[in-house]
Amino acid sequence: HPIQPFPQMETTTQSDIASIQKVFLNHQETALKWRSSTLEERSARLTKLRTWIKENQDLIRTALWEDFKKPGPEVDLSEIFPVTSEINHTLKHLKSWMKPKSISTPLSMIGTSGQVYFEPKGSSLIISPWNFPFNLTVGPLVSALAAGCPAIIKPSELSPATSDLIQKMIRAIFQEEEVTVFLGEVEVSKELLKLSFDHIFFTGSPAVGKIVMKAAAEHLTSITLELGGKSPAIIDESADLNDAAGKLIWGKFVNCGQTCIAPDYLLVHEFQKDRLIMELKVFLQKFYDPKFEGIEKSPDYARIIGPRHFKRLCGYLADAVSKGASLDFGGKTVESTFYIEPTLLSNINKDMEVFNEEIFGPILPILTFTKIEEAIALINSKPKPLALYYFGNDTQNSKKVIEETSSGNVVLNDCIIHFLHNNLPFGGVNNSGMGKAHGHAGFLAFSHEKGVLKQRVGLNNVTMLRPPYGIQAKKII
Ligand code: NAD
Repeated sequence: HPIQPFPQMETTTQSDIASIQKVFLNHQETALKWRSSTLEERSARLTKLRTWIKENQDLIRTALWEDFKKPGPEVDLSEIFPVTSEINHTLKHLKSWMKPKSISTPLSMIGTSGQVYFEPKGSSLIISPWNFPFNLTVGPLVSALAAGCPAIIKPSELSPATSDLIQKMIRAIFQEEEVTVFLGEVEVSKELLKLSFDHIFFTGSPAVGKIVMKAAAEHLTSITLELGGKSPAIIDESADLNDAAGKLIWGKFVNCGQTCIAPDYLLVHEFQKDRLIMELKVFLQKFYDPKFEGIEKSPDYARIIGPRHFKRLCGYLADAVSKGASLDFGGKTVESTFYIEPTLLSNINKDMEVFNEEIFGPILPILTFTKIEEAIALINSKPKPLALYYFGNDTQNSKKVIEETSSGNVVLNDCIIHFLHNNLPFGGVNNSGMGKAHGHAGFLAFSHEKGVLKQRVGLNNVTMLRPPYGIQAKKII
C-alpha cells in the first residue's frame, strides 16, 4: 500500500473562468476537424492514454490514497483495470462500431439502399464525481475519443489529488483544443453548463443531474446521466447465505461504501435474517480484521471522502439508533480521520433516514420480508434504483423480480461485478439516470446515428403519389 505522502504538486487552482469560453470555441473547431477522423487516429489517441496509465500506475494509487486512503489493490481493481479494459475492448471493436451499417429495404422502398452512419456528436463535456474519481472520469473519455469527440472534463473538487493528476495526464497526452481539464468548484461546472456542447456526460447525484438536464435543455444538448439511488439486494429463502454474505460484504464495503451500485439496503427473508447477520459478521471479521486488531487498523479499508459526507453519515446513524434500530455490528466513528466502521443495522422503520436517503457510505440497513411480493412492492414504492441484486436459487422468484421491478441493471447471485462487463449496457433509469455507458453503448452515447438513404438514379417509385392525386394513388394507399 502506497503510504508515502503524495509528491509535491502545483496546488489545484480555481480555473480561469474567462478561458472557458476560448477553450470551448477551440473545441468546436476540433470537433469539425474530427468529424471525419479515421480509425487509426482515434486508436492512436486511445493507445496514448493507455500507455500513460500503464506507466503511471503508482501516481494513480498515490493520488487515491491521498484523497481517501483508498487501498492500492482496490485502486488497481476499480480505478485502473476498468479503464484499461475499456480501452482494450474499444480498440478491438472500434473498426466494426465505426463502420456504417446497412439496413434492409422494405417493399415500399425498393430501389433504395439505406445505411446508418455513426457520426461523432461533436464537442463534449464530461462532469464526474469523486467516488471513483479516475475510473468515472477517464472511462467516459474513452467513449468520447472512440466516437471522435473532443472533450472538456470537470472532475470533482472533493478528490483534489486525483483531479489534479488527471489534469497532468491530459496535458501530457493531448493538445488543449483536443481534451482539456478544468479544475475548481461548482462555479466552474456552472460556467461550463452555459455552453452549447453537443453532448454532456454527467456522473453524480440525481439532484445535480436535474441541474445538468435543465442547463442542457437550454441548448437542446443531448445528455447521458449516470446517477445514483438506493440499490436493493434481495436475499431470498433459497439463497446460499455464506456465498451471498461474502459477496455482499465486499460489494457494500469496497471503497468504504461510497459506490453508486453498492447494495444500499438488504431485503432478507424473515427466516434467514439471523443466520445472514451472523454470516455477514464472519466476513467482516475475515476481510477487515483477520488478526482481531480492530478494523481501523486494516490497510484494506478506505475512509470517507471529507467532513460533509462524514457528518451526513454520522447523522444517519444517530437518527436510526434514536428511532429504534439495532446496531448489529460496528457504529464506531472517528472524526479526525473520517473513519466509519462497517456498520450493520436491523429493525429499520420507514421514518429513518437510512430507509429514505441514498446512504453512499459503510452503513447497511437490513429489512425483512416473508413473501417475494412484499419485497417487490417495497422496491416499487421507491424511485427506480441503479442496480438490483437478487440472491437465491428460486428461478420463479428471480424471474418475477426481473419482470416486475424496474432498475438500471439486475444481477443474480452477485453484486457490483456487472460494472466490469464490457458488453453489458451500464446505466440507470429515470431517477437513477438515462442513457447507457461502457463499451459499444458508450461509443453510441457520443455518436449520432445518422440515417442515410440512397435512391437509384432515374428510379422514382412514388411518382404515382404526386399531384394531381388520382385514382391510382388511392389504390396504392
Ligand atoms: P455530485 O452530484 O454532488 O457531484 C458530481 C459533479 O457535479 C462534481 O464534479 C461537482 O463538482 C458537480 N456539481 C456539484 N454541484 C453542482 C451544481 N450545482 N451545478 C453544476 N455542477 C455541480 O455527486 P458526488 O457527490 O460527486 O457523487 C455521488 C453521487 O454520484 C451519488 O448519488 C452516486 O450514486 C452518484 N454516482 C453515480 C454513478 C453512476 O455510474 N451512475 C457513479 C458514481 C456516483
